[in-house]
Amino acid sequence: MVLKNKFLIFSFVLFAGLGSLQAQTNHSYWQQHADYKMEVVMNVENYQYTGTQTLVYTNNSPDDLNRVYFHMYFNAFQPGSEMDIRLQNIQDPDGRMFVEGQSRIANLNPDEIGYLRASSLTQDGEDVSFSLEGTVLEVQLVKPIPAGGKSTFDMKFEGQVPLQIRRSGRNNSEGVALSMSQWYPKLAEYDFEGWHADPYISREFHGVWADFDVKLTLDKNYIVGGSGYLQNPQEIGHGYEAHGSKVKKPRGKTLTWHFKAPMVHDFMWAADPEYIHDSLKMENGPTLHFFYKNKPELLENWKNLQPKTAEAMNFFNENIGKYPYDQYSVIQGGDGGMEYAMATLITGERKFESLVGVTIHEMAHSWFQHVLATNELKHEWMDEGFTQFISSLCMNEVMKQEKDNPFESAYNSYYSLAQSGKEQPQATHADRYKINAAYGISAYNKGSIFLSQLGYVIGQDKLMETLRSYYDNYKFKHPIPNDVKRTAEKVSGIELGWYLTDWTETTNTIDYGIKEVQAESNKTKIILERKGLMPMPIDLLLVYEDGTRETFYTPLRIMRGQKDNPYPNIERTILPDWPWAYPTFEFVIDKPINTIKAVVIDPSQLMADINLENNIWQASE
Ligand SMILES: [Zn+2]
Repeated sequence: MVLKNKFLIFSFVLFAGLGSLQAQTNHSYWQQHADYKMEVVMNVENYQYTGTQTLVYTNNSPDDLNRVYFHMYFNAFQPGSEMDIRLQNIQDPDGRMFVEGQSRIANLNPDEIGYLRASSLTQDGEDVSFSLEGTVLEVQLVKPIPAGGKSTFDMKFEGQVPLQIRRSGRNNSEGVALSMSQWYPKLAEYDFEGWHADPYISREFHGVWADFDVKLTLDKNYIVGGSGYLQNPQEIGHGYEAHGSKVKKPRGKTLTWHFKAPMVHDFMWAADPEYIHDSLKMENGPTLHFFYKNKPELLENWKNLQPKTAEAMNFFNENIGKYPYDQYSVIQGGDGGMEYAMATLITGERKFESLVGVTIHEMAHSWFQHVLATNELKHEWMDEGFTQFISSLCMNEVMKQEKDNPFESAYNSYYSLAQSGKEQPQATHADRYKINAAYGISAYNKGSIFLSQLGYVIGQDKLMETLRSYYDNYKFKHPIPNDVKRTAEKVSGIELGWYLTDWTETTNTIDYGIKEVQAESNKTKIILERKGLMPMPIDLLLVYEDGTRETFYTPLRIMRGQKDNPYPNIERTILPDWPWAYPTFEFVIDKPINTIKAVVIDPSQLMADINLENNIWQASE
């Protein structure tokens, strides 16, 4: 049952401004740094490419390193890879990768598979031994890289772009030639949590903060978009040249595109000979680039997408913090949508609302993944969930959806998972969910609820302050769940250990109910009960027969604090704390029972109570 709208007094307040909070970094926090210089030549006939990579690795850890790892993601797209085998064994395989009962990877021919191999590798000029284990290149160093030291790796590599299966690849379903994500030898991160040399099975993002300098040579008719700023626009043209300027026709068959991307942890590019390239310089914001196929049915939507993308950029700048790069590109390619540094790849043959929706979601990842670089394999809910939270708010505004509760569908999805018996804790490694659906709902919907429900616990204005403070303090780092919790605690003055633990590390559920509303001479006793294991503070709305309303609030004792009145226009009484172990909580109000029309637990419906039926008491007619 869903509560009737008249009791929904949900209101979302987006506050500006927040004093400075000190960075809340762990004492032993560190992250590495890399400088990549790559030169790559792509053959657009057979989709094979060769490259050189010079990588200067700075060891900021307190440890001497005697090995390093590189991700060689394209090897996942080969029959028998871990990605392929997982696809064949999971109960609900991804429909983009598994068609008519068969793994698309298993059916790839040798000229359609992906591969990425190192043909030589040196450390500071000396050969090192390395071995390729699936998607990870294991490298034994010639000499350790001391704590605080640097080493330079020179690698020659060769690759083949797979037929597009998932995220990256060639010749996707919409005919985009090259979607080049996960394409280069990518150093695995060694951070305060240790090595992260995960194989590429379903998800891939965790990387070293780096500066990239990339030269791509390919057929001169191809138009390239992606991470990084183009350094030679007047040689390239293709819409990058200064407005109104002339570009010399290249003599040879190829062009060499030179990109630089500072402080990113990934580098993606896409190319197609039929791209239209539009750009839009925002006032006080980055230049937005759009790349889409020159097909008549796409033009109108992709033109109309451009001002919406600018509006969304402004929304995120205001509500999270300033986008730190001067460029963002929306590129047709890949499958569905996927976020990358300074850019996204999305499929483009969509209805307008869907096109805006996917763009906004992926762009929100610029904050929740590409600047706040959580490890999406370990803390997938901080990546997908926070992105879904902020993009739900953004869509509501940019597309004028006027939803009372823009998170409603997230709650409904979570409720169905919680009741299915298939839920696993959010702390599960992203590759280790038993079924994809449990990963999806847990990461996206339950992750989004982590924040919307946190707003219920600490107050909506404090929630938005938490996001801005979190961004300020953890941008260009690898935040972990405790960092969000500590930020919210500092902003709100409320202790939140119980919230983080129960919500993200267990499958405990929330179920509070109104047990009894009973007359006590001229007064009324209200008895609430806790039926679920997860504790929550309770907002209680009373609606009287004369139409007036009043709220009561019982914080949890373990919160050691309380939120501001979420409904300033309604008088609120703060009751004593509810100590969690007590299954019931009762209090008496100074009014006769026949004056009460209804009693409602959490009129905002932001508390994820899996049984809403016992959340409302109504006087019988
Ligand atoms: Zn996402």
